[in-house]
Amino acid sequence: MAATSLNAPNAPLLQKTHQTHVFLKPISTIPCQTSAKRISISCSATTQDRLSVQSQSQDRVFNFAAGPATLPENVLLKAQSELYNWHGSGMSVMEMSHRGKDFRSIIEKAEADLRSLLNIPENYAVLFLQGGATTQFAAVPLNLCAPGDSVDYLVTGSWGDKAFKEAKKYCNPKVIWSGKSENYVRVPSFDGLELNPNAKYLHICANETIYGVEFKDYPVPRNPNGVLVADMSSNFCSKPVDVTKFGLIYAGAQKNVGPSGVCIVIVRKDLLGNAQEITPVMLDYKIHADNNSLYNTPPCYGIYMCGLVFEDLLKQGGLEEVEKKNQKKAGILYNAIDESKGFYRCPVEKSVRSLMNVPFTLEKSELEAEFLKEAEKEKMVQLKGHRSVGGMRASIYNAMPLAGVEKLVAFMKDFQAKHA
Ligand code: PMP
Repeated sequence: MAATSLNAPNAPLLQKTHQTHVFLKPISTIPCQTSAKRISISCSATTQDRLSVQSQSQDRVFNFAAGPATLPENVLLKAQSELYNWHGSGMSVMEMSHRGKDFRSIIEKAEADLRSLLNIPENYAVLFLQGGATTQFAAVPLNLCAPGDSVDYLVTGSWGDKAFKEAKKYCNPKVIWSGKSENYVRVPSFDGLELNPNAKYLHICANETIYGVEFKDYPVPRNPNGVLVADMSSNFCSKPVDVTKFGLIYAGAQKNVGPSGVCIVIVRKDLLGNAQEITPVMLDYKIHADNNSLYNTPPCYGIYMCGLVFEDLLKQGGLEEVEKKNQKKAGILYNAIDESKGFYRCPVEKSVRSLMNVPFTLEKSELEAEFLKEAEKEKMVQLKGHRSVGGMRASIYNAMPLAGVEKLVAFMKDFQAKHA
């Protein structure tokens, strides 16, 4: 097939496997009466047939990146099949008006599916925003308190620290505990926390992506009118969460639920409407809530992708099932580290080790570059730890298959045998 014909609008998408080339045409574009101009593909091929052909593809690596991160293969394939012509609309989701009925159906379904996944009560608004979780570091204080108000930050890693520093511009935050001096390896006991009885909110980062520290339960603010706020960017939808324990949850999508460009905020409705005067329109939760996330042009394609992920998580049986899979994957990896007799080491306290981000170091740190190079040869990529901590980090979000973790563990054992 000539390269030019592959670029033609009606051309099939080309999927290369290790042995063979499989030609895939966006399914919804395949006319049942193939015209002379169109490439002849049998109409009897169902989406399922095509997906199973592709799921044998050897072209994809196991991507252990912290985010943007691996997405479920079947979701990518579904998006591929709908990319060119969404549900017979004659256009891609990228080309649709955000106010048209098609996109409305997409965003409404995404919200409804997320609501059922997390059991989000009616008195909470679900917002699909832009600007990443970093923007929420400012939006949270701007929306939830007046300039002089006190708020508490419990800092278990560098994301919580960044959130605190941003809040200083808009209110009066206090770090009530920080794990910085110990290099962020634990969550403190809640009993001893010096919570401010007047704090408007208590902020935590539910899963610190860089250090791999995850809250397994949650502190309660001392102020009866205060609320718990959580950055759940890197463990969002990885397990069931009782939303009612929180006044506000926010999460960048690009780890567990979609591409970068979407940030989801779940906020109790009674907290809306008190934004500081200086709050930019784009950071005012009430404006977005009143307009069902359609005040301005939202990140439409990203929201569509999140919707496909939510649908997939529901099909898997919901977050209880997803959590079981995540526990199994993380268990295998942490066991391999702990049983390596010190060859590999995870510094995080066992009780709060993240199911999503597994940092580990090599006793012989001079072998790290080789570890990464050899892993990459085996199609396991992005295992390098964050630049601020070094070592390794395997991010094993929902979409990382068990096979990826098993392969990594086998590789680690092999590498140890060669270098012990
Ligand atoms: N919070 C956490 C826990 C994160 O992991 C990240 C991104 N790695 C952020 C906040 C910042 O997110 P964004 O890049 O979407 O602004």
